[in-house]
Amino acid sequence: MDTTTAKILDGKALAQKIHAELQQQIETLAPEIGRPPGLAVVMVGDNPASAAYVRNKEKACAQVGIASFGKHLPTEATQAELEQLIAELNQDERVDGILVQLPVPQQLNAVTLLNQIDPDKDADGLHPMNMGRLVRGESGLRSCTPAGVMRILQEYDIPLSGKHAVVVGRSILVGKPQALMLLEANATVTIAHSKSPDLAAITRNADILIAAVGRAKMITADMVKPGAVVIDVGINRVTDAAGKSRLVGDVDFEAVVNVASCITPVPGGVGAMTVAMLLDNTVFSYRRRHGK
Ligand code: NDP
Repeated sequence: MDTTTAKILDGKALAQKIHAELQQQIETLAPEIGRPPGLAVVMVGDNPASAAYVRNKEKACAQVGIASFGKHLPTEATQAELEQLIAELNQDERVDGILVQLPVPQQLNAVTLLNQIDPDKDADGLHPMNMGRLVRGESGLRSCTPAGVMRILQEYDIPLSGKHAVVVGRSILVGKPQALMLLEANATVTIAHSKSPDLAAITRNADILIAAVGRAKMITADMVKPGAVVIDVGINRVTDAAGKSRLVGDVDFEAVVNVASCITPVPGGVGAMTVAMLLDNTVFSYRRRHGK
């Protein structure tokens, strides 16, 4: 019986390594510049999941030496109040990165808010200017989750040039920027989505398969080419037979681990990298704003 299983790509360990590197950079730069980097996280309302994400981000900032400027507004905050706050943060010299924690309450227009962030302080890399830079292959702030995927691939020396990468999912947050980043790294890229017929026929052609859908365990072993590199972006909460809740990815890990050559776990894979890339973007802006 063949007992070969895939190598596990450890996003959690890589995120810790990146945090340590950023901390070192900040220790050197902050005395020269006269202040630490600053990140402002804007949260509206009391969504418990968002509150947990914000706490995580602030904790990571404190760990590496980034000053947090948390702005928490009530659920009924107006578009004008948010726009005023973003304008102030754009002007605030202590702030290098701004992000609006999504989702925002219904009365607010998230796209308009994101577009008002100064593109040079756009820590989430979602501003059309930064998306445009990515399309043009210019340096700039990159969307955190797909950037985290690229760092994992780089860390494990996974060759991309000339390889066939298939991205399942085409969201503005993950799928589309992911495909562009892979293209920038000279992969041949296919993007699949909910209207793609015979998904398995597409994914079976992938040397690198990236799942960013949000459907628990939808990528089964028969959809994966033997020896492929499988990156699981999905985060899905499921309840098992014993009534216990846990997180699983879009990939059926237990089966695919026997087919792939490398695979990211959930949790401990891509999710761990997203915050590291947010901090990385903040330090990138800080350095660039000070010509360092
Ligand atoms: P979206 O819901 O915005 O996008 C999902 C994409 O999957 C869409 O493009 C959709 O296609 C496609 N899709 C849906 N069903 C199918 C199907 N049956 N076959 C093929 N494609 C399908 O999700 P996000 O991109 O924001 O997130 C995707 C997953 O990644 C989620 O589980 C989310 O929780 C997770 N995530 C994880 C992060 C992390 O830090 N690790 C960060 C961000 C997200 P169509 O466009 O046609 O509707």
